[in-house]
Amino acid sequence: MRIDVITLFPAMFQGPLTESILRRASSFAPDGATEDRQDDKPLQIYLHDLRQFGLGKYHQVDDSPYGGGAGMLMRVDVIAKAIEEVTEKLRMKNEDLKIPHRIYFSPRGKKLKQAKVEKLAKNDWLILLCGHYEGIDQRVIDGGWIDEEISIGDYVLTGGELPAMVLIDAVSRHIPGVLGKEASAHEESFSASLGRKKEYPHYTRPEEFRGLRVPDVLLSGHHGEIEKWRKGNLQ
Ligand code: SAM
Repeated sequence: MRIDVITLFPAMFQGPLTESILRRASSFAPDGATEDRQDDKPLQIYLHDLRQFGLGKYHQVDDSPYGGGAGMLMRVDVIAKAIEEVTEKLRMKNEDLKIPHRIYFSPRGKKLKQAKVEKLAKNDWLILLCGHYEGIDQRVIDGGWIDEEISIGDYVLTGGELPAMVLIDAVSRHIPGVLGKEASAHEESFSASLGRKKEYPHYTRPEEFRGLRVPDVLLSGHHGEIEKWRKGNLQ
């Protein structure tokens, strides 16, 4: 999968994308490069600084809202240009990538759930737009530059960068080759195989710690009983 992120703060992505599982599973272009990387990583992530599409000498990307009010809005002309350039440049270069699924992060969007994460993981190409300030001009949505708005919860963050990282992390776990053999996204909280319920509790050594014992059934070696106990302890 290829993911292009359009953001005013590309440096924020250092860390979450450059450590641990995502570091191993993805190639990461933090510099706005659009060329397709020829590598065998399951995930290619490209960051694009929205400022490079800004207007005039100061690369302006925002403006005050019509009708007044606090804060600034990100401009439709700047965002449209960014989305179109990222899409067109790549389409010309890579025959396999035809139609990106374009997401804008917004508290007004549909709340991200596991079933949606699994569906998004089936795309070949995602473009993620991170808002900032008071958000974006509504015409970005109405004009068809975005396919859907996604929220990561009923609270307001300063920008769409953390939601983008949350989505990338969650989606990547469902891309073949991202998780090692030892970990699987198959039987986890909210997965279809657990009926979208929350997972049962886990225990490891020692068998007893300060009077807290591991449930006897898990030490019994009786697979049928263990399975029954686990099913009974889904939430
Ligand atoms: N004025 C907006 C409102 O009241 O809904 C909030 C704008 S917020 C300060 C700036 C940006 O952060 C948004 O444009 C969006 O991209 C992102 N954002 C904030 N909270 C979010 C959430 N819960 N889910 C997804 N994105 C969020």
